[in-house]
Amino acid sequence: MARCASESCGRWRPDVLAGVSGLSVDAGWFCSKTCVEHMVQKRLAGAVRVEQPILASAPHLRLGVLLRHHGALSADQLHDALEAQRKSGLRLGAQARAMFGLDAGMVLRALAAQAGTRYLTAIDPATVQDGPGGLPHEAMAALGLIPFSKPDRDGRVRVASMAPVRWDAVTALSTLAGWKPEPYLVEDEVWAGLFTNYGTAQAEDGSTTRVVIVNSEGEAATRIATLAASGRRARLAEAHWDPYIWVRVHGEAMVNDVLFARPTTQELSWQAANTSH
Ligand SMILES: [Zn+2]
Repeated sequence: MARCASESCGRWRPDVLAGVSGLSVDAGWFCSKTCVEHMVQKRLAGAVRVEQPILASAPHLRLGVLLRHHGALSADQLHDALEAQRKSGLRLGAQARAMFGLDAGMVLRALAAQAGTRYLTAIDPATVQDGPGGLPHEAMAALGLIPFSKPDRDGRVRVASMAPVRWDAVTALSTLAGWKPEPYLVEDEVWAGLFTNYGTAQAEDGSTTRVVIVNSEGEAATRIATLAASGRRARLAEAHWDPYIWVRVHGEAMVNDVLFARPTTQELSWQAANTSH
């Protein structure tokens, strides 16, 4: 009746009455783990990257203009800061803070206005000690986002973000977790404090999602197939934002994440050039 969902296989599914055989992934039947791996390889190769969108809602003003607008810098100060920034390589906000003792909250407010998002000057690290949302640290580091509230009835979750907000990562998190993440810009130190404290109140053997970090697409396919084949059925969800691919394997008993960074096009051509020597 049904055939193995791996295109290169096509083996007929044995009669259900014949007993336990094969496994189901995303409602497709696969005769073996190898066939699941083939499917995953294809899927990873075709994973569509979430684009970092051009902001349409908020006017995309330059930070310097916004700092002027908020009265944080005079025209001369802005000129000097831009000049110094070219040599120092600092971000404009950091440069202005270093030169003119600019209030950190002021810079944050301007950055938030620039990104069309909200900001918080402080978040009590204790609010994340029970790990709201249960994200693995590796995933938060890749996303640049830390949930600091539990998902509400509508799936809204407040997430702390360093500047600039990675909207592609926000979309990826939404895809994978099924949430509506609401980013709040925070200073780097606040973000780091949340990161350190996230989930510290949980028991070591807590039921948080386990994450596997792999180095290549091939390794990812193997791990994902193994995780999916550990039960009778599994469901996969994936998100791809530059340069990361994150696959969530919903098994019968638990959820596992597989995360890896796909080399950028430049890195790939560099590798290709390197092997020719
Ligand atoms: Zn097969």
